[in-house]
Amino acid sequence: MAEQEPLYARRREEMVEQLRRYGITSARVLEAFRSVERHRFFAPGDRAYAYNDCAFPIGYGQTISQPYTVAYMTSLLVERCPVGRILEVGTGSGYQAAILDSMGYSVYTVERVAGLCRRASLVFRELGLDIEQRLGDGSLGWEEKSPFDGIIVTAGAPRPPAPLLTQLADSGVLIVPLGGSEGQRMTVITRRKDRFEEELFHMFAFVPLIGREGWRKG
Ligand code: SAM
Repeated sequence: MAEQEPLYARRREEMVEQLRRYGITSARVLEAFRSVERHRFFAPGDRAYAYNDCAFPIGYGQTISQPYTVAYMTSLLVERCPVGRILEVGTGSGYQAAILDSMGYSVYTVERVAGLCRRASLVFRELGLDIEQRLGDGSLGWEEKSPFDGIIVTAGAPRPPAPLLTQLADSGVLIVPLGGSEGQRMTVITRRKDRFEEELFHMFAFVPLIGREGWRKG
């Protein structure tokens, strides 16, 4: 395993160069992708695929998002909210949470699948990351830990989940892919006291957000 580390470091550098070519310009985001060992969020037998620019199955019908998608959402966040408390909905492998942690955010993450929640907690522990996790329906947010300066939803929602809007701090941002199985529009909603401003970005393909304020089933 240890003999693979130089190879993974090289692959990570290539991934960062590709993200740069795709238009990711934030030095903080690129540095996070350089420092977080993406292969650690893959099962040992799948690590050869960790640096390919594609989503990859992580079990339970779920995926770790493509590096470009993670970088895109993280760039939307960092431009609007450079520091603070961030809630991630959809822990999955834990990679997006680790990227946010490495950038100095205080990270809270919720996952609805117990097996994924458990596996991510083992990886966080192995890497010594101080990320707060909860098993449950993240479409309801995490009220006790709110308000959040940013909320990133890493699954496709039919509409902005109302509890997530109310758990935003003033000037806080919700980043959420909105739409059905044909694709979802990346959407940023910024709270301005009692008003919410919406910005629309590119289309993506996410697994569905399943829950009370999401889709009823997969
Ligand atoms: N952020 C993840 C990563 O870095 O690996 C990728 C997330 S994957 C594309 C979407 C995740 O959202 C899945 O793990 C899925 O189980 C989870 N999910 C779907 N609905 C959810 C809900 N209501 N609450 C919490 N997690 C949910």
